Amino acid sequence: QAKTSGKNRHRVFNEEMDRRLVRKLGLEKDMRRALVRGEFFVLYQPKWDARHQQPAGVEALVRWKHPDIGTISPAEFIPIAEETGLIVPLTRWVLQEACLQNRRWQEEGLPSQKVAVNLSIRVFESQNLGEMVGEALQLSSLAPEYLELEITESLLLYDIEDIVRQLEELRGLGVTVAMDDFGSGYSALGSLDKMPIDTLKIDQLFIRESNLESKQAIILAIIMMARQLNLRLVAEGVETEAQMAFLRSSGCDVMQGYYYGKPMTEQEIQSWMERSLPA
Ligand code: C2E
Ligand code: MG
Ligand code: MG
Ligand code: MG
Repeated sequence: QAKTSGKNRHRVFNEEMDRRLVRKLGLEKDMRRALVRGEFFVLYQPKWDARHQQPAGVEALVRWKHPDIGTISPAEFIPIAEETGLIVPLTRWVLQEACLQNRRWQEEGLPSQKVAVNLSIRVFESQNLGEMVGEALQLSSLAPEYLELEITESLLLYDIEDIVRQLEELRGLGVTVAMDDFGSGYSALGSLDKMPIDTLKIDQLFIRESNLESKQAIILAIIMMARQLNLRLVAEGVETEAQMAFLRSSGCDVMQGYYYGKPMTEQEIQSWMERSLPA
């Protein structure tokens, strides 16, 4: 009996692996056409400045509306896009879309704010990142100060001098740079002071467990460090009032998370913005 169920478990496991592989291969194939077919779209999640009680920008988060499967999360398709190299044209598209949208909001009279776009290491390897960002700004006539680029710590595993050079080129255009998911990955502490960045985003993981004293200690240390390094701070994944209150009392004022708003369509976020403006 035990033997059979063991075998069974093995079989179920293999079937599960097959199923995943088939799905991955299918997505890989379908993704090549998805861009031209207009299957990607961007949602925007607000950041909130709790001290000044005002919006503090939005983050562009890409989604894929697959014709058969439905909406697919970037957690699933970004790694595939990175493997296939499709991440480069996809990022070019997200950058243009986000800049055009931000410019449209400005033209409609909303207060100007930054839009943030996520960059994966693969687009740093493609070498013409500065050009790509410059083109998106030009195409949209968005002033560079209204674009932020989010990178992750794992970038520091690569040729750090080259990354620093590219980040400096980007900041030379007038855009700002944020280090996303800070504290979650390969520790970047050793080279953080060398990085030409403007903002640290504290990883959701710490916020999720910010009821624990041990996680509070880490959050406080990150906040202190950001101050010393003159970096702006954003806490990610703020879901509850208690988390918000702890962060505020610790000196982190800008927050992003479901407590304030989920990623939304451009119309939804526009009305969110209008509602949150002082009357
Ligand atoms: P990220 O850049 O760290 O984005 C934050 C993620 O946390 C988003 O997931 C967002 O929906 C989610 N989130 C925000 N607030 C909360 C909260 O209060 N609770 C919880 N549980 N989650 C929250 P999403 O949209 O699924 O994106 C996942 C990741 O995919 C992003 O993490 C980013 O690394 C990547 N990604 C998204 N769009 C792009 C893109 O255009 N280019 C690249 N290279 N990566 C992207
Ligand atoms: Mg991000
Ligand atoms: Mg993050
Ligand atoms: Mg992330």
